[in-house]
Amino acid sequence: MPAITQELPAPNRTKPLFDSNDVTVIFVLGGPGAGKGTQCANLVRDYGFKHLSAGDLLRAEQDREGSQFGDMIKEYIRDGKIVPMEVTVQLLENAMQDAIDNEGNKRFLIDGFPRKMDQALKFEEAVCLSKFTLFFDCPEDVMQERLLNRGKTSGRSDDNAESIKKRFKTFVETSMPVVKHYEKEGKVVIVDATPTPENVYEDVKKKFAEKGIEEKA
Ligand code: AMP
Repeated sequence: MPAITQELPAPNRTKPLFDSNDVTVIFVLGGPGAGKGTQCANLVRDYGFKHLSAGDLLRAEQDREGSQFGDMIKEYIRDGKIVPMEVTVQLLENAMQDAIDNEGNKRFLIDGFPRKMDQALKFEEAVCLSKFTLFFDCPEDVMQERLLNRGKTSGRSDDNAESIKKRFKTFVETSMPVVKHYEKEGKVVIVDATPTPENVYEDVKKKFAEKGIEEKA
């Protein structure tokens, strides 16, 4: 896992680091427990995307020995709050550069990002323009049941009733405006995330085909 540079905030650029004609970025959003990770794993298997989860990158940085951001990230995650965007954007940029250099993969699913408008604007200004946002739409009662179930085995500090409540609040107040922003630009693909994982994935595949995104041979 690449470490983040000590330089913060992420450098200002006059144009994005990666050209969106060359590098594909699909943002994946949905409430906590909507099934983003499950569906991303399917897409990696069948389409060959590189999956980058903002939450996973933050958890890895939190646990990295010597990280100057570890304690801060821990507190934000436990409270279901949005970690400051400089850290998240820089982690994503580093992970993308790493995948391009070492795996030659230029197609990214960026999961759990952008969760706040400032991240969306900063990322598209400094790193890469997105192709579209895949949004998993799911009612809170369904997500809550899934998260409490996952909490029995996940070992995650935020899969408990108190943290879940805070995460829902953050999602509605801070992340939904990002979905609305991209919806206005006609750049959101909405999938109903209530059915079984298999049925949700069928819908995802259908919508990717409509967007001209093909499965790998
Ligand atoms: P997740 O693994 O996607 O459920 O995210 C778990 C937690 O990590 C969130 O509740 C936030 O505290 C933090 N987090 C995840 N993604 C982001 C992001 N894009 N920006 C800031 N914080 C994030």
